[in-house]
Amino acid sequence: MGITEFALIEKYFYQRASKRKDVILGIGDDCALLSCPEGQQLAMTMDTLVEGVHFLPSTSAEDLAWKAIAVNLSDLAAMGAEPAWLTLGLTLPETNKKWLKAFSDSFFDCAAYYGLQLIGGDTTSGPLTVTIQATGFVPNEAALKRSGAKPGDVICVTGTLGDAGFGLQLASGEREIKSKKRSAHFLNRYNQPGPRVAAGIALRNLATSAIDISDGLVGDLNHILKASGVGAIIAVDDLPISEPLYAECTQQQAIQFALSAGDDYELCFTAAEDDLERLDKALKTTGCVYTPIGRIIGGNKIHYTQNGETIKMNNLSAYEHFKQ
Ligand code: ADP
Ligand code: MG
Repeated sequence: MGITEFALIEKYFYQRASKRKDVILGIGDDCALLSCPEGQQLAMTMDTLVEGVHFLPSTSAEDLAWKAIAVNLSDLAAMGAEPAWLTLGLTLPETNKKWLKAFSDSFFDCAAYYGLQLIGGDTTSGPLTVTIQATGFVPNEAALKRSGAKPGDVICVTGTLGDAGFGLQLASGEREIKSKKRSAHFLNRYNQPGPRVAAGIALRNLATSAIDISDGLVGDLNHILKASGVGAIIAVDDLPISEPLYAECTQQQAIQFALSAGDDYELCFTAAEDDLERLDKALKTTGCVYTPIGRIIGGNKIHYTQNGETIKMNNLSAYEHFKQ
């Protein structure tokens, strides 16, 4: 049996939203009323997940809710912002109570974990689509942008790269592996990414530029290069690749995944050599592992080296909608 729009909002979202002090009025009126702490700027972002485009029809309600929040928090992390509020645009083909319960359980687990309050949204019928807008705070002038990288800066990435891309191939049935343990690792990285919120905050006043890796390292690093007017050199032997990925691929395949597969939601950032010691301390306190993978140079392209020699990398492309 179905449920009406207003009963649905009340039961699955309004009743479950937590309360933050900076929310004067949350779900229930025509707008939410919010207060921004003194000396801070608001960082806002939005991401839409459309069934069949951004997620497979087989995706569970739990994974979808988690991922929809996580991809937004990853954008906040890339700016060094502390997450605070969410709005949720939910388009549903049907009102399935079991699905809604699973979705909202996972949604509020993730929101509680990151201290977020759901403050409003919109509910409509149509093809399954989840749009989330997330807002965070960042002290005036402290936001990490794409535009500050300078020649000589070291390029770093958090965590490991390529696992989520491998997970997508498993989830879509394009690839099968024997190890259940490794399969669970890749699928988890793909379905429930962990946005680097604490690392982003720790990088304030240390990183010269930052971006989150949603479309693949090469594509996303290129955004930093364009915004900063610089080039880069990447040592592919230094790319952080997980044990499971090494176990399932040749080294060259693992490098391809690490350079061009999307969905990892790690951070790529640059920092001046002189700040590396301070940066190391700051990131250690968050427990976030990171790896230097290259340098910013002049020009506007990415160059690659392997075993100290310049190499060419072919077939590297980032995911793009409306590709010609
Ligand atoms: P209006 O018609 O004035 O835009 P709605 O009837 O769409 O308002 O929504 C009523 C209230 O419920 C608003 O506060 C809105 O923000 C909230 N809301 C609607 N859908 C959602 C949702 N999926 N999640 C959270 N809040 C929602
Ligand atoms: Mg209204």
